[in-house]
Amino acid sequence: MEHKSTVTLLGTRGSMPCSGKEYLRYGGRTSCILVQLAGETLLLDGGSGMAFLKPKSVPSRRLTLLLTHAHVDHLLGLPMCPLLTEKDMILDLYAATRDGRSGEQQVRALMQPPLWPVGPEALPAAIRFHELPASLDIGAVHVDTMPGVHPGGVTVYRVSGAGKSVVLATDCTFTEDLLPILREFAKDCDLLLCDGQYSEEEWASRSSFGHNTWFAAAKLGQDCGAKQVRIIHHAPDRTDDELDAAANVVSARCPNCRFGYDEEVILL
Ligand SMILES: [Zn+2]
Ligand SMILES: [Zn+2]
Repeated sequence: MEHKSTVTLLGTRGSMPCSGKEYLRYGGRTSCILVQLAGETLLLDGGSGMAFLKPKSVPSRRLTLLLTHAHVDHLLGLPMCPLLTEKDMILDLYAATRDGRSGEQQVRALMQPPLWPVGPEALPAAIRFHELPASLDIGAVHVDTMPGVHPGGVTVYRVSGAGKSVVLATDCTFTEDLLPILREFAKDCDLLLCDGQYSEEEWASRSSFGHNTWFAAAKLGQDCGAKQVRIIHHAPDRTDDELDAAANVVSARCPNCRFGYDEEVILL
């Protein structure tokens, strides 16, 4: 049976959600990506975009969530995900142990009083926590991982199936040591989703924050041979007009590189 391979950007904002008339086109929801590949449905990150996941977009009763890391902009939508109000739904959540805390402990740090009224067990759906291995198979989808560079750690993902592959490199600074490994990891992918939160001017004062510039993201896309590139994790105060202006400059240099926006559906 042939399946359509699509990626839906449910949240493309970084650091914190934003709203207002200056953010309508790119949207204000934080990191969450729906990948539909080889008959499987996966979510990468559970930022506030996950709270807007439409139940009809998940045909099965099983969903996989791969966390890059548990910073709140990547986890905020999990407690409010509409699919988790369905009692026959199973969510398999994979996250790396960080600083001696398992993925379950990281999620529970948010989902307990005083930050949240109830724990994961209060949701009608079943959440099954798993330690993230170096690679894993979910049905016909293969997932590879590599560690990125970010305060507290981060996982970079490559998700492959049906002859297509998607790489998510968010919240990851491209150090000299990391770049060659990352280029090889993302080599010839169909879609690279890459953090490009900052302009070159901003970079001087923010290079230790664990992110990237949009030109660094676009260059990685070119160097690894990605067929399509979307820059994500937009700064929360970056307006639509500012993102359009940046996108014009970047796409003049790298024609297959665009700035992602909330609810964008990308055909692989
Ligand atoms: Zn982030
Ligand atoms: Zn982060």
